[in-house]
Amino acid sequence: MTAAPHYHLLVPTYRNDFNTCFYCGCIASTHDYAPPPQYLEFYLATREPSEFLQVPCCTECNDHLKACKAGTLDERRRYAADKLAKKYAKALTIYEMWTEAELAALDFSLRHSIEAGLKLGAETTERLSYPGFDFEAAGIEHNVQHTAPRYFDVFGERFSTFREALEFASRAYRVPKNSLKERFAENDNNFELAIQAIHKDVAEKEFNQQLKKQCTDFARQHKQAVIFVHKQVERYLSENDDMTISEALQYLYDTRVKPANAIRD
Ligand SMILES: [Zn+2]
Repeated sequence: MTAAPHYHLLVPTYRNDFNTCFYCGCIASTHDYAPPPQYLEFYLATREPSEFLQVPCCTECNDHLKACKAGTLDERRRYAADKLAKKYAKALTIYEMWTEAELAALDFSLRHSIEAGLKLGAETTERLSYPGFDFEAAGIEHNVQHTAPRYFDVFGERFSTFREALEFASRAYRVPKNSLKERFAENDNNFELAIQAIHKDVAEKEFNQQLKKQCTDFARQHKQAVIFVHKQVERYLSENDDMTISEALQYLYDTRVKPANAIRD
């Protein structure tokens, strides 16, 4: 590729960062170009944002970035991370959902594959959060902005990784990790809202079971149609927030069943 004259080589400021992929922290064995050489003319002509850098890069990120047309390091980093996260989605899920301690209970072949997933998931998580490094290009120092660490709060406890927060929340609030993870995504990426939503579901389910059972018992005892009892009770409850199921049944008895019996007698 003869695009080199337009590009500045990105050189790590610190020796430790030599031969390191700027995007994911793996060993660099090739270069990425921001912008890609085939779009160089476009960027030169349009002055669209671009940094004209030749970037140390691992073969995997390089491969992922082949389809990326972006001109800036930030855009290319996000693109590469996105591809990486998709490629290793399964391992990332395993890493989030399992702990080493849970492996003991599994049979050999499952344990073996979960173990491999855990390892790959941990590695991928590290690559995805790699911040890049300080570098020099065309004689100018660039300090990488280390983004403020992200935290996950679970009712007053703070965790630096999603995995730890999920583990804690699932144990502390006796909620299965799978449904917690789902609810987390549905509730603004917020553990507290997710746990509340799950508890609300559980309470509703219990309430409905109670409603069904008590209405059926009542109907049997007083020789009423279950559907009639159910409908009336639901109506009373919807009209009166403070009423309990037993109170609603009592009310039904006093206002409908007893008067009807009296007429019949
Ligand atoms: Zn890489």
